[in-house]
Amino acid sequence: MSPTRIAIVGAGPVGLTLARLIHNKPNIEVVIFESDKSEDARKQGGTLDLHPGSGLSALEEAGLYDEFLKRARFDGEAVIFTDKNLVKYIEQPRLDEESSNGRPEIDRYLLREMLLNSVPSEVIRWGCHLRAIDENHNLIFDHGIESGFDLVVGADGAWSKIRKLVSDEKPHYSGTGGFNFTIPNAEETAPDCYQLTNRGSLYAYWDGKAIVSQQQGDGSLNVYAFAVRPEDWYNQATFDKNDIQAIRQATLEEFSGWDSRLLDFVRHAQDAVYRSLYMLPVGWSWKHRAGMTLIGDAAHAMTPFAGQGVNLGMEDALKLSQAIIKATNSPESDLTAAIKTFEEDLFVRAKSTAELTHDMMTWFLFTEGALRTTIEKVVIRMVSSDMRPPVSWVTYPLLVAGTYAYYFFFSTVSLSVIVKWCFHVLYTSVPYRILFHR
Ligand SMILES: Cc1cc2nc3c(=O)[nH]c(=O)nc-3n(C[C@H](O)[C@H](O)[C@H](O)COP(=O)(O)OP(=O)(O)OC[C@H]3O[C@@H](n4cnc5c(N)ncnc54)[C@H](O)[C@@H]3O)c2cc1C
Repeated sequence: MSPTRIAIVGAGPVGLTLARLIHNKPNIEVVIFESDKSEDARKQGGTLDLHPGSGLSALEEAGLYDEFLKRARFDGEAVIFTDKNLVKYIEQPRLDEESSNGRPEIDRYLLREMLLNSVPSEVIRWGCHLRAIDENHNLIFDHGIESGFDLVVGADGAWSKIRKLVSDEKPHYSGTGGFNFTIPNAEETAPDCYQLTNRGSLYAYWDGKAIVSQQQGDGSLNVYAFAVRPEDWYNQATFDKNDIQAIRQATLEEFSGWDSRLLDFVRHAQDAVYRSLYMLPVGWSWKHRAGMTLIGDAAHAMTPFAGQGVNLGMEDALKLSQAIIKATNSPESDLTAAIKTFEEDLFVRAKSTAELTHDMMTWFLFTEGALRTTIEKVVIRMVSSDMRPPVSWVTYPLLVAGTYAYYFFFSTVSLSVIVKWCFHVLYTSVPYRILFHR
């Protein structure tokens, strides 16, 4: 039996996870084509929390969980949600491996490095930017045409070229954009920001604006200052875009009236990069086409407001690998049918995650009075997304009642401390983790 030849376009976390899962299986030959000239061609900033049942399951299946643990930051699960006055609506203290909620953080570059080291170097072809794919699935690069693949997998991110084979759909502007900054060595250079971030994440939302700070493994803080604004806001802006001082000043003016401790994140910010957030329509799908498929952001680009994109993508990689391995193990199996079934499942998972993400974005940025007016919905949605029947039939009503009661009494400090403590005990308890972490 001649091997099944698989081309993956894109060596992001999702394409690499798929390659890792299939590269050493019998009857499979895999190659990844990646635009970047080398592993270090681009800064891979940011941090990702991997979830049980998706990102973490893919790493377990790939035999990389122990490697992941060496790089994971369990204290990164500390989280604060506040408004512009630093009123803390949600406060999750620092955790460790024992008390973990099961969603440790990993720096994006460490995840990529770990995955890259887990496949033989000859599997990846660097500096191969796909220009187009033709009707016969020939891959057109600057260096020439690569062809003869049984399956082409588009793992080439939000602006996928492979997607064009099945649709003209492109991601649309989500309505939000902003600066991504860094505060290097924050413990020394911005100790108050470091303390407030608490080695985890801080999210401050108010009036269609957000300041977000996330601890990175290298000691820096990754800071975002996002706002609801037109797509061409950055191009129209008149401040000097090469002058960090001018960018800080413009951002401070836009966020005027915010607590000074939150504005400190902007005052200390370096390395400004402007990012507009794009998304595919919620529930987008494509008509199956034999010999190709899409995974990760290529299939379901969404905004980061539910922190789900990479997890969903790694789950795609896991499920696609299982479909491919099963189909290539026996001569009777049909790869096309297996991919079609995989895609039908992907559409269901992607729709539900895109809805969650869209709800979160709406409740954080597009609802008047948010975060105060939406916090109950945010908490209920966050917690219940892990609940499964039949347990949820009992726990969901309790969650709704408890959450509304808690925020009703939110301003009563002593009561809120007691209830906060009860929530913490509940969320970190062994029964909670057994019940809700698949
Ligand atoms: C600001 C921000 C914060 C985020 N935070 C989170 C978070 O906290 N949690 C979370 O789960 N998700 C988060 N996400 C989403 C997450 O980053 C993506 O879902 C994830 O990176 C998708 O992985 P991917 O491999 O599908 O695509 P990508 O990471 O985009 O990788 C695609 C790869 O394909 C390559 N490529 C692209 N075009 C071509 C081409 N034509 N030819 C060859 N190669 C090509 C690229 O160079 C890249 O290496 C965030 C996204 C953003 C923008």
